[in-house]
Amino acid sequence: MNSLSPRPGVATPQASTSSTRGLHVITWGCQMNVYDSERMSDVLRPLGYRAVSTPDAADMIILNTCHIRDRAAEKVFSELGRLRKVKEARAEQGAATVLAVAGCVAQAEGKEILARAPYVDIVLGPQTYHRLPEMVARAARAAGAVIETDFPVEQKFDFLPADRAAPAGGSAFLTIQEGCDKFCSFCVVPYTRGAESSRPAQAVLDEARRLVAGGVREITLLGQNVNAYHGEGPDGRTWGLARLARVLAGELGIERIRYTTSHPRDMEDDLIAAHRDLPQLMPFLHLPVQSGSDRVLAAMNRGHTADDYRTLVARLREARPDLALSSDFIVGHPGETDADFADTMRLIDEIGFAQAYSFKYSSRPGTPAAGAGMHVPEDVKDARLQELQAMLRVQQDAFNDATIGQVVPVLFTGRGRKPGQVSGKSPWLQAVSVEGPDSLIGQIANVDIRHRYTNSLGGILTEETDRA
Ligand code: SAM
Ligand code: SF4
Repeated sequence: MNSLSPRPGVATPQASTSSTRGLHVITWGCQMNVYDSERMSDVLRPLGYRAVSTPDAADMIILNTCHIRDRAAEKVFSELGRLRKVKEARAEQGAATVLAVAGCVAQAEGKEILARAPYVDIVLGPQTYHRLPEMVARAARAAGAVIETDFPVEQKFDFLPADRAAPAGGSAFLTIQEGCDKFCSFCVVPYTRGAESSRPAQAVLDEARRLVAGGVREITLLGQNVNAYHGEGPDGRTWGLARLARVLAGELGIERIRYTTSHPRDMEDDLIAAHRDLPQLMPFLHLPVQSGSDRVLAAMNRGHTADDYRTLVARLREARPDLALSSDFIVGHPGETDADFADTMRLIDEIGFAQAYSFKYSSRPGTPAAGAGMHVPEDVKDARLQELQAMLRVQQDAFNDATIGQVVPVLFTGRGRKPGQVSGKSPWLQAVSVEGPDSLIGQIANVDIRHRYTNSLGGILTEETDRA
């Protein structure tokens, strides 16, 4: 087959919307992957691709993957096995399917994916999404699959389409920063997402303005190290996250601003002051500490101590007394002793978290911790995780219980689980559902909180409803 012959099973793309094609995107991992999946859909829209809810209706399937913990690759291969059957069944009906693997597993294991799953047509890393239309065209022409896992010199954001559709539900993610230079001992992100880079502030403001025009009332600014943001401002100066938040709240009138994920080392004074000054900055902060032991924090290369974290939290709470905190924890990092783990439990007890994510350490090939030896036995990790999660659960329940009896403004983002219900988010990122009409979706309304369920709250609408 020469390079111009179409590849079997790959539809030839046309830059026209005359024929609509089905696109099914499966997203695993962090919010940044959710955002990236939306951007990939945007980039493919001019080729006629429109979202379909099942893979068997899709002319193109994208599996957007996450590599943060172990068995990531196995999970991908097992899902690809399922998608292969979908592709074959469609081929029997005479329909071609482009199968693409994106995200951090694609970045880290691209060649392995093509060797073990030759029916995959495109493998693309997180920095190359803007080249997707060109890759689809190449896949249609080429005899083999297309792989793009470089870190290109051009910024993908400069090439992604500006006409992003505002999501329904009044809440949107907006990526402002990517990559990481911190090289925590356990983490693959610096290798899969590349060096830290910030989008120019003007590009962020333009995207935010379009979202607001589309009815968005809450924006969550995303970055692997979002509070390390240092984008070029329209005035030629470097803007930090605090400056950006002030303009988003002031000039753009965004009612709710969140940002995630932050590193304790980058929590600068002006950002703490922004929490004091801006009611639009929601009183909930995900600020991962990972461990409460100085020995482990040093081994993790986190660049701060447990007391640094305590002091930081005290300053944040002074600035914004109703601020609720969330964190990530890793138990069983190589070398972690019972005494180290006890330090983590003490820190949790002292700080009091509204919510948290906790993980057993998982060895990631190529990271410094993977080769460090002193690995903690699996059963010890299991026991520590259980103990830690039990304490976090008590704290989370206590935090949610304290909301019962309060009237809180809820941004309704979609329908609830039960018919006739709508659900949304409190300022503290609690899931809240009420009986109410669909017309509330995308609106902020006051809710009298009456019940706590395992991971959510229930209440009734009060009359002071903001239907603006
Ligand atoms: N940049 C963020 C930070 O500094 O906290 C987090 C990025 S990472 C996508 C999300 C979380 O996954 C981390 O905070 C950490 O708790 C967890 N994680 C990362 N690598 C891990 C590993 N090898 N084993 C277990 N958990 C891990
Ligand atoms: Fe990973 Fe550490 Fe960077 Fe967070 S700060 S992305 S945990 S290397």
